[in-house]
Amino acid sequence: MFYFLAFVLGSIWGSFCNVCIYRLPNNQNIVKGRSFCPSCKNQIKWYDNIPFLSFIFLKGKCRTCSNKISSQYFLVEFISAISFVIIYHLYGISITTLLLIILIIFFIIIFFVDLKYFIIPNELTFPLMFIGFAKSFEPNLNQTIFPNYINSLIGGVFGYLIIWLIIFFYKKVRNKEGMGLGDAKLMAVVGFWFGWVSIPFTIFISSFVALFFAVPSLLKKTRDMTTQIPFGPYIIIGCIIYVSFANQIKHMFL
Ligand SMILES: [Zn+2]
Repeated sequence: MFYFLAFVLGSIWGSFCNVCIYRLPNNQNIVKGRSFCPSCKNQIKWYDNIPFLSFIFLKGKCRTCSNKISSQYFLVEFISAISFVIIYHLYGISITTLLLIILIIFFIIIFFVDLKYFIIPNELTFPLMFIGFAKSFEPNLNQTIFPNYINSLIGGVFGYLIIWLIIFFYKKVRNKEGMGLGDAKLMAVVGFWFGWVSIPFTIFISSFVALFFAVPSLLKKTRDMTTQIPFGPYIIIGCIIYVSFANQIKHMFL
């Protein structure tokens, strides 16, 4: 029963993520105004705006103009719903669950905004840094994944500096910008949330995943080494993988 509830709540929040992904980069108000179809600008009726169900009933098309609705909407709702279920399964009803749910909502929005627009808005990273640091003063949280406040502070600064250094040297050597400061702030978020140990692992895993995705397109010559890639999504994937295996990783190395 609770799993079903987590799934429904997750899909509703996923629907909210979609609104943010669409409106944040365009500087539109997130809270005000009803949802509308991106093609015909017609308002979407509440009964056409139910996560999953509407998408399936309308066969992914707008009721008014029958233009195709991007399957991204469906995907985001699905990822969000599944994440809620997994987090609930792992941590039950707890503060840890609440924190991780807040984090995953922000992560989903950042993931798709960076993928589509190559930006990571400060409106998303700054609140996450604050929450990540503030929660470290609560000693009763899950100790295997969450650090104390000193570790959290070191992690935040370390995460920001290491990406900043990469950007700095890349600029010196190639005279080009590889990553942006948005990536540095996102890495600071990871550090504030999960402590300094998470930084090298997140960087390692995300670089590995990025390479895995970059090599095929490099071989096909659709992309050369200088093409800018949004690195935010890889940082997020790296961070999630690290947190999933934090326990094992800490046992292996520390
Ligand atoms: Zn339409």
